[in-house]
Amino acid sequence: MEFLEIEDWRSFGLIVHGFGMKRTEGRKVTKRDWWGEKIRVGQEVFPLVSLRQVHGDSVGVFNGKSWKAKELWWEKGDGVITRVQGYALGVFTADCLPILFFDPVQPAVGVVHVGWRGTAKGISQKAVGKMKETFNSRSENILVAMGPGIGPCCYEVDDPVKKAFAEGGLPWELISSSRGKGRWSLDLYQANIYLLERAGVKRKNIHLLALCTSCCQDIFHSYRAEGETRGRQLNFIALREEVKKKS
Ligand SMILES: [Zn+2]
Repeated sequence: MEFLEIEDWRSFGLIVHGFGMKRTEGRKVTKRDWWGEKIRVGQEVFPLVSLRQVHGDSVGVFNGKSWKAKELWWEKGDGVITRVQGYALGVFTADCLPILFFDPVQPAVGVVHVGWRGTAKGISQKAVGKMKETFNSRSENILVAMGPGIGPCCYEVDDPVKKAFAEGGLPWELISSSRGKGRWSLDLYQANIYLLERAGVKRKNIHLLALCTSCCQDIFHSYRAEGETRGRQLNFIALREEVKKKS
């Protein structure tokens, strides 16, 4: 098991997290390969919870009781939050950005998957709102980590994308640069930093592992660079169980 981590997050005893790569967990290449699986970190085992991922803006709540972990995989959604310990919340990406949320005060965690559609719809901002409304989280306590995704170096978009961002109230000049002829480089990191700051998250609490999946296709699955691949990397965050923390 080999995942990338945010350096500053390694010391947190309450959580485990990771951004997967092509070679993480050997033959687990597609999302289907991970269905019903568990993530093992040392002696700890975390059943994996994920969603259908439809490039929307809906963020679910995993309460560990009425929704069983496996059932949630069939629910439409691109984000999920929880206060339940011992489960890993995961999203699958190949160019889209995985974003992890951690409120050490409640404590609570969350994960979202964003491409241009989800970003234009403001899902990362909505995830913060959902943590506030569901768990009484405070924006200033929420820590965020963005993992590998397609960088502005490789992410060329056209006018419909620009229009969608205008509808979402995002400042196009801040998050894109013109490549001429009605084409732009889009910076998903910058766009989501804007949304998170709009939700009250402090810039100093947002960490980036800004590796471009398209530039680094030897390490990562890249939907664009590999020609609409079915390969996905898993990205996850989990609250540790109290008992397991002590052992
Ligand atoms: Zn690139």
